Amino acid sequence: MTLTHDIDRHDTDILIIGTGGAGMFAALHAQQSAPAGTKITIAVKGLIGKCGCTRMVQGGYNVALGGGDTVERHFMDTIQGGKWLPDQDMAWKLCEQAVVRVRELENEVGCFFDRNADGSLHQKAFAGQTADRTVHKGDLTGIEIINRLMEQVLSRPIEKLQEHRAIGLVPTRDGASLSGVLFIDMRSGKFRFVRAKTVLMATGGGPTMYKYHTPSGDKTMDGLAMALRAGLPLRDMEMVQFHPTGLLAGEHTKMTGTVLEEGLRGAGGQLLNGAENRFMFDYDPRGERATRDVVSRGIYAEMRKNNTSANGGVFISMGHLGPENVRRKFPGMVRRCADSGFDLAGGKVEVVPTAHYFMGGVVVDTDTRTAMEGLYVAGEDAGGAHGSNRLGGNGVANSTVYGGVAGDVMGADIRRMGALRDPDEDVLDAEIARALVPLSLKPGHIHPLRHELQEAMWEDVGVMRTETGMARGAARVAEIGDELMTVGVDGTTRAFNLTWHDWLNLRSLCDVSDVIAKAGIARENSRGAHFREDFPEPGDMNGSYFTIARQIGSGVEVTRAPVRFTIVEPGETILPDSEPETLVAAQ
Ligand SMILES: Cc1cc2nc3c(=O)[nH]c(=O)nc-3n(C[C@H](O)[C@H](O)[C@H](O)COP(=O)(O)OP(=O)(O)OC[C@H]3O[C@@H](n4cnc5c(N)ncnc54)[C@H](O)[C@@H]3O)c2cc1C
Repeated sequence: MTLTHDIDRHDTDILIIGTGGAGMFAALHAQQSAPAGTKITIAVKGLIGKCGCTRMVQGGYNVALGGGDTVERHFMDTIQGGKWLPDQDMAWKLCEQAVVRVRELENEVGCFFDRNADGSLHQKAFAGQTADRTVHKGDLTGIEIINRLMEQVLSRPIEKLQEHRAIGLVPTRDGASLSGVLFIDMRSGKFRFVRAKTVLMATGGGPTMYKYHTPSGDKTMDGLAMALRAGLPLRDMEMVQFHPTGLLAGEHTKMTGTVLEEGLRGAGGQLLNGAENRFMFDYDPRGERATRDVVSRGIYAEMRKNNTSANGGVFISMGHLGPENVRRKFPGMVRRCADSGFDLAGGKVEVVPTAHYFMGGVVVDTDTRTAMEGLYVAGEDAGGAHGSNRLGGNGVANSTVYGGVAGDVMGADIRRMGALRDPDEDVLDAEIARALVPLSLKPGHIHPLRHELQEAMWEDVGVMRTETGMARGAARVAEIGDELMTVGVDGTTRAFNLTWHDWLNLRSLCDVSDVIAKAGIARENSRGAHFREDFPEPGDMNGSYFTIARQIGSGVEVTRAPVRFTIVEPGETILPDSEPETLVAAQ
């Protein structure tokens, strides 16, 4: 039976999925680089400017702007923070182009960032960085960035498909190229297939399959689940970053898991265990200013020893820095904590490691091109730039830099592309049938399954891992995925049927969770965010490899590929001997 008669068909030239920093920058750059008359469409699961994680950026944006800091220093911090796993060419482009992009944000997009008395941009300290490098607007930088980008995008002749959820990448019949993307128009519940010559996937990853997590609820790994089904190679899928200081306000509130920004530790915030003792120096000589992976493990180790606060985490304490000072520097964080009954400025706040960012993603080149002609990937959906650990402040730099790159490249590439490509109608049918599964089943409850998934991933594929644990995690994920296929959703109306979308969200999360567990088993060492108690050593740096996961039939195969040290070899540096190791004053 063919199902495709029930869909709306739509054509464009350049299609962008997602309206975070990557998607919106891509739209603006594509407008500049594409030939006149090119039709550009931006489609998003939520509303432009109101969804995704770029809006949630707190601490700020890493960029080397002088004062002793250099692109080389930023690059070396990124490589060392990523434990020699980043794709070095991607990391270099990120650091180099961040300088261009931040000026663009200021001068063309219209962002105002905080300044020093002399008018230069203020840059604050973030963990794992050898210079104060993080440009910011108070402690809620993302709202400034996304609001200004939103104004730019809304005011331009770019077609906007809001509340459109992408559910499938549909190739041509020979499978070599992308034809277009299948969406659900969430407002009507109808399927819409959009053909395009070039498509940017910028749906922003988002590891919301963990009990504690920070990303926005609209982010459920849809992009990576679609890429997996389309047969694309995904790299570093075991690399889930836990931010050490997620607010822990009890099970009853959604505030639990939301992040308290890195600048708190950068400014001298102290972590205390249940007995109110400072413990991070027991785990690392940098104390609280160690990278996120190290601090998360320190906290997790205290939790295992039951050295915990009332809700089972630890405390962050800022009072010794002066409550007035803390209120002035971190007004957003102080308000967020007050909303949950904590006094950040003068007292202690309970925190727990929280899943924050996904370093893994689709294999791309430095121009955001993928193995499939016509498909480009940028932002948190793309793997490579961060290796095993993203430095705080490098996330939004990455999404805006590579979003802009994608816009430039797509605008140029369509000049050599001919007509729109026709889809493989069988794949289109299969994707529609897949999305309709829950509507044909007896309605049940999805939420207990999501809860089970989040517990399984936190317990078995979380901050510290073993092969036995991850294998158990993968088995639990498979069971949850199987059970989901028996739980239906009331399909009386498809218009704004949010339970249907919850089901689809959980389907994506199950599919990607399985890959995380399997890639985790395949990496037999400990690097950055991936820590294996059964393989605690980092392994030979010169023999560094990254994992590549691919869907083969209905299973997932994970292989390894060597990291190419195209700019600097392990143990070496590109900084001149005369430069100090760090420009950051010790706390
Ligand atoms: C609380 C928090 C604080 C952070 N603070 C910082 C910080 O201080 N500095 C820093 O560098 N980074 C920070 N980050 C990370 C940073 O937000 C991300 O690295 C970056 O913004 C990702 O940009 P993106 O464009 O890839 O994705 P996003 O900005 O998340 O955008 C993804 C877009 O895709 C859409 N989408 C998702 N699925 C679909 C679908 N199926 N169909 C259509 N659209 C879809 C979403 O609705 C959204 O519009 C923070 C993250 C969080 C959660």
